[in-house]
Amino acid sequence: MIVVLKHGVPEEKKIQLMNWLEGQGLRLHISNGEFQTVIGLIGDVSGIDIDLVSSLDIVDSVKRVTEPFKCCNRKFHPEDMIVEIGDVKVGGGHFVVIAGPCSVESEEQIVAVARAVKAAGADMLRGGAFKPRTSPYDFAGLKAEGLELLRIARKETGLPIVTELMNINDLPLFEDVDVIQIGARNMQNFDLLRELGTLDKPILLKRGLANTLKELLMSAEYIMANGNERVILCERGIRTFSDYTRNTLDLAAVPMLHQLTHLPVIVDPSHATGIAKLVPPMALAATAAGADGLIIEVHNDPIHALCDGAQSLLPEEFSALAEKVRSIRGVIA
Ligand code: PEP
Ligand code: MN
Repeated sequence: MIVVLKHGVPEEKKIQLMNWLEGQGLRLHISNGEFQTVIGLIGDVSGIDIDLVSSLDIVDSVKRVTEPFKCCNRKFHPEDMIVEIGDVKVGGGHFVVIAGPCSVESEEQIVAVARAVKAAGADMLRGGAFKPRTSPYDFAGLKAEGLELLRIARKETGLPIVTELMNINDLPLFEDVDVIQIGARNMQNFDLLRELGTLDKPILLKRGLANTLKELLMSAEYIMANGNERVILCERGIRTFSDYTRNTLDLAAVPMLHQLTHLPVIVDPSHATGIAKLVPPMALAATAAGADGLIIEVHNDPIHALCDGAQSLLPEEFSALAEKVRSIRGVIA
């Protein structure tokens, strides 16, 4: 249930109402917008008399929220959420470009790619140190050493780093990571999500391989309900019967999620297609569809990449794409 207050209500009356609602055993989510304050009620609202609350002189309207997700529901928070990572902002009109290799392979590789993507205008550096691989015999990342190399690349370029956490036990290693990525395969690792809710750190939550938008939002809810509101959603393609691409990019997810939630939504055209040539058109389409950003795999030697070379752009290809993305942004902004 949400309670929308009238514009300019006295602070003490607002606090009185909030205290009373908390006294009914409810948790409150307050959204102080420019034009209205929305009080979201979380918990068992069956004892709340809607007519009574509606009749209060400071209340504009009361609505039931039927969706199971509350903290990430746009009804609770009508204005776009802007997630800040140092000077970088995502959401609410701020567009972010995250680029880098699938996995961190060596200092030379990550620093070279970081420099190249920074020169092309990227805002953050991606690179996997802990890699989920379908085959147990494939390269699974440099782990702690990979994180150390990302720190070096950050120091060299100033780019904040985005990297995937797979296991709660590795969390202490991620203390100075700027954004923790939760990959498609862990989208419903609920214990991990709960733990992320206790952090003061942005989380990039990728959609699972075969998960609905509601399931994605319920996973965001796990993080937010535990106190961490800084969640960025990522559409990265889903499994369908389409046969020539790695996944199917669900572009309608972008405007749909924007209706359902105030969280920023970015798109990963690399994992969505699995084919480097398809990455630029899908990145441009995602930008035109209103995405709040892109995460793109870039490698300086894709043929010899230890992971996902076939979908990685060369730095010069990324640079040309970034230029076109800026043009599209200019048209739709
Ligand atoms: C990745 O970003 O390298 C990755 C493994 O992505 P996903 O979890 O979307 O498959
Ligand atoms: Mn990858």
